[in-house]
Amino acid sequence: MFPNGKMKALTISYDDGVEQDRKLVEILNRYHIKATFNLNSGIQSGANKWEREGCTICRMNIDGLPELYAGHEIAVHTLTHPRLETLDEATIINEIAEDKRNLERIFGKSVIGMAYPFGTFNNTVKRAVRNCGLRYARGVVSTHSFLLGGDLIEFQPTLHHNDTRLMELAEIFVKSKPDTPQLFYLWGHSYEFDINNNWNIIEDFCRLVSGRDDIFYGTNAEAFGITTIE
Ligand SMILES: [Zn+2]
Repeated sequence: MFPNGKMKALTISYDDGVEQDRKLVEILNRYHIKATFNLNSGIQSGANKWEREGCTICRMNIDGLPELYAGHEIAVHTLTHPRLETLDEATIINEIAEDKRNLERIFGKSVIGMAYPFGTFNNTVKRAVRNCGLRYARGVVSTHSFLLGGDLIEFQPTLHHNDTRLMELAEIFVKSKPDTPQLFYLWGHSYEFDINNNWNIIEDFCRLVSGRDDIFYGTNAEAFGITTIE
């Protein structure tokens, strides 16, 4: 059960710390929806930019990020965004532990979660995540489900924001009256809203799911019931 006896929770997870997060945070804050932002501290610089489908995608500089993301959770996305399962164990640990350490220094609070770069992992990666003291880590395989339970080190989301079933599942979720805890977990990259020119998707989604007495709006860690010692 979530805080105040609620049986439904909504949480959101966005990766890579790009400029479009500024607009996403503005939208989420307006609807009082909490999110977790997964950052690569080793390459968190405006010098890191690339082109995709006619859009420039640019990581943000670190200065000002604590203010931007205030009220939301910050989580590990590794130092440099490699495919972790291709690396040796010591390098995997370096990618995770150093990102955690940097983010804790930059944001001044405990970092206890992670999103896997590219969503990929194997048993060595999962062991490294645990050994670095993280409590949950997320992949990118849509479950189209609101079920909780299972190993939080290999948690999979309900869906991505471009999924054609987004509003259908959101409608089902807001109307449901479950007697066991249910979690709606949405993920994506904010730059995809620019590439696909579909910011209306997240605006419409937030309008539908926000402001409901029976839904707990939390960061990933809060939705998983993980509390941190600051
Ligand atoms: Zn990423």
